[in-house]
Amino acid sequence: MTTSNNLSRLSGGNLRFLSVPRLMLIGDRWVGAASGDTMPVFDPSSGREFARVPSAGVADVDAAVAAAKRAFETGPWRSLQPADRERLLWRLADLIECNAGDLAQLEALDNGKAVTVASGVDVPLTIRHLRYMAGFATKIHGRTIATSVPYMPGAEFFSYTVREPIGVVGQIIPWNMPLMFSAWKLGAALAAGCTVVLKPASNTPLTALRLGELILEAGFPPGVVNLITGPGGVVGERLARHPDIDKIAFTGSTEVGRKLGRICGDEIKPISLELGGKSPSIVLADARMEQTIPGVISGIFANSGQVCAAGSRLYVQRPLYEPLIAALNDAVQTLKLGPGLDPETFVGPLVSAEQKKIVCDYIASGVAEGARLVTGGGVDGEGYYVKPTILADAKQHMRVVREEIFGPVLTVAPFDDVDEAIALANDNEMGLAASVYSQDVSKIHRIVPRIRAGTVWVNCHNVYD
Ligand code: NAP
Repeated sequence: MTTSNNLSRLSGGNLRFLSVPRLMLIGDRWVGAASGDTMPVFDPSSGREFARVPSAGVADVDAAVAAAKRAFETGPWRSLQPADRERLLWRLADLIECNAGDLAQLEALDNGKAVTVASGVDVPLTIRHLRYMAGFATKIHGRTIATSVPYMPGAEFFSYTVREPIGVVGQIIPWNMPLMFSAWKLGAALAAGCTVVLKPASNTPLTALRLGELILEAGFPPGVVNLITGPGGVVGERLARHPDIDKIAFTGSTEVGRKLGRICGDEIKPISLELGGKSPSIVLADARMEQTIPGVISGIFANSGQVCAAGSRLYVQRPLYEPLIAALNDAVQTLKLGPGLDPETFVGPLVSAEQKKIVCDYIASGVAEGARLVTGGGVDGEGYYVKPTILADAKQHMRVVREEIFGPVLTVAPFDDVDEAIALANDNEMGLAASVYSQDVSKIHRIVPRIRAGTVWVNCHNVYD
């Protein structure tokens, strides 16, 4: 694996961005942590540090929350018309579009993902999401309610609901699609008129900070968006506990989501949670191989498997079981593993040394518990590379089947009839997504409602609008 030229591919814009220490956005000022502490950012393709960002503490969070509260209560933001908020979000989306190439590259460098994925998926979905949410700013409606007050028979009342911004929102996002998750969080909150303190993941803080520059350039008033970098256990928990944070929006692991849910329960504070997944794919014997193979491959190996809805558990009807494993193995050998900035790369390195170790430990545990390693495993040397991995003959009790791995690891198991497949698919505590591969429309319509998942794709996986 040659990684030495990853940084040499950087654009002029990104070289400039990385040539100065990156700071946090509080109000309209770029600041370091009050303590002066910083933390490193590593290139996943080499494991080498290439930037540093502030490592915020409680005092920095408090300053950011105060700026957001001021902006919500007294700043010009509050008096903007909904159409003005819409226009600002559109302008931000336009600025992201103008800087799409640089942002895709920065994301690929920071996260390790293939730059083709960043430019083909992350950045366009970011732009479209902001434009989609921009439209909601002018379409926030309340209701009128006919009242019947039993103890005042002659009286007439006029009752209505008004949807108001909740206030200051604390937003905490993961590292797998950082720019896109920034947009998912910011778009709705800003369209609604909230102000925000957003904390990106410590592994991938850079595109959020670049986005902060574009937010100011778009003309959002100071303090409407504040960006804080620092350890989740400090920054994230302070956001959840802060009395002036009116709501938490979190995307990340189930474990941290549970913890934040408990804190917000104590604080009686609303929280929205987008958590982990262990999504099944069911392949019936009549499935078309030319649809199934690319669907399964992109379902689990796109973004190096670091997708919450990744199709990580594959159940195949017995007549197709060995032929599909052989075909998937052949397909996997054609996927190019390499540095994210190499345009030929399909599978980039994982985000961190820690994530590589977690994934390699899972693969070892699968083999130790009796799964058959068809292909894959960790790559020795610099960089956080794990080859696309297929573990066949996986059993439901194995950790690789029960727990989210969040890496390029596919477990495969056979089934005989549809009832068995549905039972296997539903036998997991996480119900994020699923997919079914078949040409039989009647069977598909009977299977889909029985799968306990938020999204069920048919003859594809990981398709996002
Ligand atoms: P994570 O460890 O839960 O971290 C997510 C965010 O929470 C990071 O910003 C992290 O900060 C912060 N954090 C960590 N500990 C915290 C604490 N005690 N209190 C408050 N915040 C804390 O998850 P991850 O490893 O970044 O991301 C992978 C997970 O996200 C997977 O489980 C994946 O399925 C899930 N995910 C879900 C969706 C969805 O839409 N359902 C989408 C994408 C990812 P630091 O980085 O500083 O630790």
